[in-house]
Amino acid sequence: MPTLDFHPTGRHFLQIPGPSPVPDRILRAMSYPTIDHRGPEFGALGVRVLKGIAQIFQTKHPVIIYPASGTGAWEAALTNVTSPGDHVLMYETGHFASLWQKMATRLGLKTEFLGLPGMEGWRRGVQAHMIEERLKADTQHAIKAVCVVHNETSTGVTSNILAVRRAIDAAKHPALLMVDSISGLASADYRHDEWGVDVTISGSQKGLMLPPGISFNAVSPKAIEASKTAKMPKAFWAWDEIIEMNKGGYWPYTPSTNLLYGLAEACDMLLAPEHGGLPAVFARHQRWGEGVRAAVRAWGLDIQCADPTVYSPVLTGVMMPEGIDADAVRRVIYERFDCSLGTGLGKAKGKMFRIGHLGDCNDLTLMAALSGCEMGLKLSGVKLAASGVAAAMDFFASHPAPQLLQKAA
Ligand code: PLP
Repeated sequence: MPTLDFHPTGRHFLQIPGPSPVPDRILRAMSYPTIDHRGPEFGALGVRVLKGIAQIFQTKHPVIIYPASGTGAWEAALTNVTSPGDHVLMYETGHFASLWQKMATRLGLKTEFLGLPGMEGWRRGVQAHMIEERLKADTQHAIKAVCVVHNETSTGVTSNILAVRRAIDAAKHPALLMVDSISGLASADYRHDEWGVDVTISGSQKGLMLPPGISFNAVSPKAIEASKTAKMPKAFWAWDEIIEMNKGGYWPYTPSTNLLYGLAEACDMLLAPEHGGLPAVFARHQRWGEGVRAAVRAWGLDIQCADPTVYSPVLTGVMMPEGIDADAVRRVIYERFDCSLGTGLGKAKGKMFRIGHLGDCNDLTLMAALSGCEMGLKLSGVKLAASGVAAAMDFFASHPAPQLLQKAA
């Protein structure tokens, strides 16, 4: 019999930017027996997770949960609010923005892809002024939606979503604002209602610390209104029937019961007032990001994100010197030290690797991952300026985690 126990000693270090490690508490919750998805216990579970996930998106409006990966939720977002041939303005921040644009084109939308030239756009967040200028020029209001990625997982660059909202408002344009926060949600600050987002797309396998398999659309009243007249064919993804049945905690089809047990647990963990709730979650990922960047700087390597105001608290992209294949370095780190790092994607293939600091981490899991990186970089012949491990240790030791201090007091 082949075994699934790939890592026989100790824990594997899953430091890719999602799927992120699943805490034992969530794994245990997902092992409860599967129940009747039309029975009374399920209705209570459904109501509980819908309430919890809305708090994570920071919205008072519906959040739709699909038994699908994030890609499904991208398609759901587009098909619910657009009609064939509609013009959508998208912004190239990296590989995932490019994949979403490709999907929109395949669905029959007319996509326009803004961005900075060459790799520049992959090192900086959305330039909101470019969106404002483009929308001002669209005096006939042909553009139906503006689509941006909040945390570009392929690069480690975030985008200022409030600035995009303000750009749309400054242009006095009625386009919907659609945001992919698949890897940002529940690690990086995100406020669906306050930032005036119409549709936010997310997935389970990143900040929510769940396995892959469920994904989300958070929807504003304006998006729901638009969905009533949108003509794109849709059935499984259609919001209306789901929102109706969700009122009782049910779905029109068989939901992913055990992943929803996990989601209930994840919401309890992330929102727990005794641990500081969402502000504490965002603060700890910021801090971990700073610690990891201290290591990269000490190594003398470049961080993929070139604008410090939009460093990602979710992951850090580490650029390799000329002549070093990032995937070969990753392979050494995996084979010798049992640590998985994210590969470079699309235009960044072979040029960088990605260290995830999302989901269920702590200072010492990150220190271990950085040790694996440092040993692997040296074994791969990369000349390091100094020890990144020592720099990260100094950072973590001199910047105590606020929650742990509270515990000690
Ligand atoms: N968008 C972003 C920003 C992502 O990080 C991912 C996956 O990593 C996706 C979209 C696609 O989601 P999925 O792979 O769950 O379909």
